[in-house]
Amino acid sequence: MRKRLPTSSVIDANCYQSSHRAHDYAEIVRRWKAVAKAAKLRIEVIAEQGGYRVYGLKSRAMGGGAPLYVSAGCHGDEPAAVAGLLEWAEENVEQMAHRPLMLFPCLNPWGLVNNTRHNHEGLDLNRQFHDESHPLITAWRKFIEDFRFPVALTLHEDYDANGIYLYELNPCAGHSYGEPLLQQCEQFIPREWRVSIEGRKAKCAIVRRTRGVPKLDGMPEAVMLFAEQGGATLTFETPSEFGLFDRVRAHKAFVAGLFEMTR
Ligand SMILES: [Zn+2]
Repeated sequence: MRKRLPTSSVIDANCYQSSHRAHDYAEIVRRWKAVAKAAKLRIEVIAEQGGYRVYGLKSRAMGGGAPLYVSAGCHGDEPAAVAGLLEWAEENVEQMAHRPLMLFPCLNPWGLVNNTRHNHEGLDLNRQFHDESHPLITAWRKFIEDFRFPVALTLHEDYDANGIYLYELNPCAGHSYGEPLLQQCEQFIPREWRVSIEGRKAKCAIVRRTRGVPKLDGMPEAVMLFAEQGGATLTFETPSEFGLFDRVRAHKAFVAGLFEMTR
């Protein structure tokens, strides 16, 4: 019997899987510095954490309208979020140069290098955003303090997930970012099928809330932005048991879709 040849996407995925440097923080920083130079973004060290520099970037168009906020790498064992944002940025330098934009490419580099959710202190950073005494949170607050973000995106992954899903905190009850954005990503990974995610009701893979602040032990980044700034905050999750290639493509598609929607 003739052996079936793998499809090109399988070859692409295998090449990606065997050559990626998704936990190589020095390489990631080098590439972000190249993006910053090409797109004329300001790149600043906002803090040093566990022996690694944490960076924030601002576009020079910050004064020209409502800025978009995007962050990744708050949890170190979620590398597709970091890689997806970086790869999208590398392919969209021109757009980045002309949009008001604030980026945090990797909030927990120690965790990324060590492939662990927590930071070098054993803390889940995404439950620390209420803690104004924590040096990273203090630095983060200072970096964003002069700006209001009508839309903020935090990129994550979930090892419990069976597909992509979204937390959407959106004060505008009549409008949803989630449905069209998930539609763009499900060409790479199907949606989560569970109707309850982390104890919250999901409809078509979207956990949505228009008012009030979710009660959690410790404050996540997205919830803090929603509580303090009142804009829409989106937390996109890919299932971390799926292949890295497709997870990265899903993150890129989500970021691309959001940039398109908020043009
Ligand atoms: Zn996460």
